[in-house]
Amino acid sequence: MTDTAARPAATEPYLDELQAFLDSEWDPDLTVAAWWEKLGTGGWAAPAWPEAHYGRGLSPADAGRVAKAIADHGALGAPGGLGLLLAGPTIVAHGSDEQKEVWLRDIVTGQKGWCQLFSAPGAGTDLAGLNSRAVRDGEEWIVNGQKVWTSAGHVADMGMLIARTDPDAPKHKGITYFGIDMHQPGIEVRPLKEMTGRALFNEVFLTDARTPVDSVIGDYGQGWIVANTTLAFERAGLGAGSGHAAASLATPGTVAGDLDRRAGDFVSGARRRGSGGGPGALGGAYGLILQTAKDTGQIDDPVIRQQLMRLHSLNEIARIGGQRLKAEKKAGRDIPGFGNMMKLAMSDILRLSRDLGLAVLGPAGTVHSYFGEGRDAVKDVVPPATTMLTEMALFARGPPIYGGTDQIQKNIIGERILGLPKEPGPARDTPYSELPKNG
Ligand SMILES: Cc1cc2nc3c(=O)[nH]c(=O)nc-3n(C[C@H](O)[C@H](O)[C@H](O)COP(=O)(O)OP(=O)(O)OC[C@H]3O[C@@H](n4cnc5c(N)ncnc54)[C@H](O)[C@@H]3O)c2cc1C
Repeated sequence: MTDTAARPAATEPYLDELQAFLDSEWDPDLTVAAWWEKLGTGGWAAPAWPEAHYGRGLSPADAGRVAKAIADHGALGAPGGLGLLLAGPTIVAHGSDEQKEVWLRDIVTGQKGWCQLFSAPGAGTDLAGLNSRAVRDGEEWIVNGQKVWTSAGHVADMGMLIARTDPDAPKHKGITYFGIDMHQPGIEVRPLKEMTGRALFNEVFLTDARTPVDSVIGDYGQGWIVANTTLAFERAGLGAGSGHAAASLATPGTVAGDLDRRAGDFVSGARRRGSGGGPGALGGAYGLILQTAKDTGQIDDPVIRQQLMRLHSLNEIARIGGQRLKAEKKAGRDIPGFGNMMKLAMSDILRLSRDLGLAVLGPAGTVHSYFGEGRDAVKDVVPPATTMLTEMALFARGPPIYGGTDQIQKNIIGERILGLPKEPGPARDTPYSELPKNG
């Protein structure tokens, strides 16, 4: 158990309760599974969810305070991954009572990892144009098709699947949303290697994959509405400066093998694991770049100083903008389009961090291994900040694409906020089967 003498006094009743929980329950020698069981069933893994569904009904801001208090205590945080970030809130909003009881429990306790089977070849931005088919066969649906860019698909137990169930309905209306078991012969997951050298996402082939009728989330044919709930949570989770949702210290689910490991190892190993770069390294880039500029003497270069100031200003604008949005939401209001603007701001911050990071590193920024075995060797010849900044630079292309590309954020702001005319295209009620298809 942790020495609590230096801990600042909690100010809110829920923080007092959390502190008492951490004092009595956190034990680094617990397995990850045992700790997440306590955290999740105690309502601390997803405190923004309703009390009836493994949450505490806290505001997003207060939920953020819970996460910080857990980290400050030195305890392992909530499972993370797409289950907690996307599948859970979608099930809370649209799931059946049974789905809420079984699936949400497995998510908050980290027992099952989830992936998002949305994007398909030819249907990324135009997601509603997807052509994966699900056909009813008695008490099951049979699914055929291909998905792509499936983050964490290789460690997922369950998938959030959208598939076409009525090709004769307009494209947004003939889609149904399923929770599908990834462990079955009809599902093949093939990793895709990225320019970072890692393989965070995958192609997923569905060949006569089966899922029971009670795995439909929301109603038959309502998949587009349900998917938009998932996408709204994805965009909200991608606020300026955040890394990809799939990043977490210990990986949930039965595949990754973390559940049986000692919880304390993930906490004490946080710095080491974080130094592996990748999406988790996106946050805090400014501090790393500033320190590297000081170490290399580049801080005396007036152009570098100017760019550092620009990056600092963009980060501050995003931070204060986030506070403004939170305050509006707390007061029951919204700023239409602000989430889209925040995502665009995150893209700008990432691009500037990439360019500035590589500028301060100089030639050392080219030292990178594309293979697992080479990564430790790289760490032996360059400082840890170098590998983090180089990996961040290589990954920086990703976040401006996922959760809706920059161009799409601008389209949304133009059409829905500024009232500009919609892009020309077939009428919205045209049956999917009559639409022109890619390729
Ligand atoms: C790191 C990463 C992780 C991802 N993880 C997942 C995941 O877990 N699950 C999942 O389902 N998907 C995932 N994706 C996929 C992501 O959602 C798609 O890549 C994204 O929606 C864009 O689709 P696309 O790649 O098919 O590009 P396309 O839609 O083919 O777009 C290509 C280009 O055309 C532009 N464009 C397209 N349509 C328009 C338009 N109407 N107006 C203006 N410009 C347009 C786009 O902005 C883009 O620049 C991930 C992507 C990345 C990079």
